[in-house]
Amino acid sequence: MTTKSSVSLLQLSWIGFRLRACSSFHPRTLNLAAIASTRPPHISTGCRSSSSNAKVRSYLQFVKRKIISPPCPPYSHVCQVGDPVLRSHAAAVDPAAVTGPEVQKVIRTMVKVMRKLECVGLSAPQIGVPLRILALEYPDRMLQESSPAARELRGLSAQPLRVFVNPQLRVLDGRTVLFQEACESISGFSATVPRYLSVEVSGLNEKGEAVTWQANGWSARVLQHEMDHLDGVLYIDRMDSKTFVNINWQAHNE
Ligand SMILES: [Zn+2]
Repeated sequence: MTTKSSVSLLQLSWIGFRLRACSSFHPRTLNLAAIASTRPPHISTGCRSSSSNAKVRSYLQFVKRKIISPPCPPYSHVCQVGDPVLRSHAAAVDPAAVTGPEVQKVIRTMVKVMRKLECVGLSAPQIGVPLRILALEYPDRMLQESSPAARELRGLSAQPLRVFVNPQLRVLDGRTVLFQEACESISGFSATVPRYLSVEVSGLNEKGEAVTWQANGWSARVLQHEMDHLDGVLYIDRMDSKTFVNINWQAHNE
């Protein structure tokens, strides 16, 4: 995977278009070299009760939007599969802009959302910003909640917060291992996905400093998952489709 050092002209013109569209709602919105993904219209899931719920929700949304302007990226929620931002190839960040207020706001929001949802990794596209930024953290508290057997089997280890801007991945151990994984952008589901055992990531940290990190076990898996997001790839593209499950399937039978 190659990483461009800056946003291309084509991307900039597209970004400019998207930002203007968003700015019409938020005059003082971020002047990011990133885009605001336009939210697709609400789509009914097809069953009758959902359709009527959709109507009620649509009306409530209409009233709400009369009072409050719609949010703009970076969102404080995670975009869901179907949102075009999750399938876009994220743009590289201008290294000189990493410590600037706009990129710093994106990073702060990513960390806030990641911790709020208690997930162990998040990418900027997931909060509506198609820039090549990812964050990872595995708090010790979460590690303590797992069994010793799970820690051993999955290679879990506590990890401090790490932020990578314009990350580049190098495979250190090409053997793959299968485990069930999930994604906040495909809420409520999980599947078995093969991932490399060991990888190395290089990029800039949140201070704009060059950093390299070698990750093994679960950290390597999270890293590969978040790297995929930067290229518009989701785990469902790599999963063993027969293992794809609704994590609440049993509850539906109770
Ligand atoms: Zn994900």
